[in-house]
Amino acid sequence: MPVHFIPAFTDNYIYVAETPKGAWIIDPGCAEPVLDWCAKHTLRPSAILCTHHHADHTGGVEALAQYFGIPVYGANQRIPGLTHAVAEGRLTLDAEMLTVLEVPGHTRDHIAYWWKNVLFCGDTLFAAGCGRLFEGTAAQMFHSLQRLAAL
Ligand SMILES: [Zn+2]
Repeated sequence: MPVHFIPAFTDNYIYVAETPKGAWIIDPGCAEPVLDWCAKHTLRPSAILCTHHHADHTGGVEALAQYFGIPVYGANQRIPGLTHAVAEGRLTLDAEMLTVLEVPGHTRDHIAYWWKNVLFCGDTLFAAGCGRLFEGTAAQMFHSLQRLAAL
């Protein structure tokens, strides 16, 4: 199950997860690199998944959703263009099973997607630390990180 990394801005990535029956764009902070990448690879995405509402993760959502005519998944209406609100539990998408984890800390409604041993965790966890506490408490973040560590 390939996961592609599309460079975005100066220091970030947008992910495309390719499955047999679809392809998901994860946290598109901008649309153009994704449009270019999809054109180059003749790939038509089937959904957008968002971990949290910050603009560097959602700035491209509405343009991509409109261009491809695809649904937008996320925690709630703070995600621009949201069509499918998801919460803690299972999510079936293109015949694939994902687990949605609520991991508050960076934002109060941050979620992560766990799929076939791949974790899309937004700004909750980085290679060398965790995201800043904009809305949640340190205790919430600690609990969220423990949940990710247990995967
Ligand atoms: Zn963020």
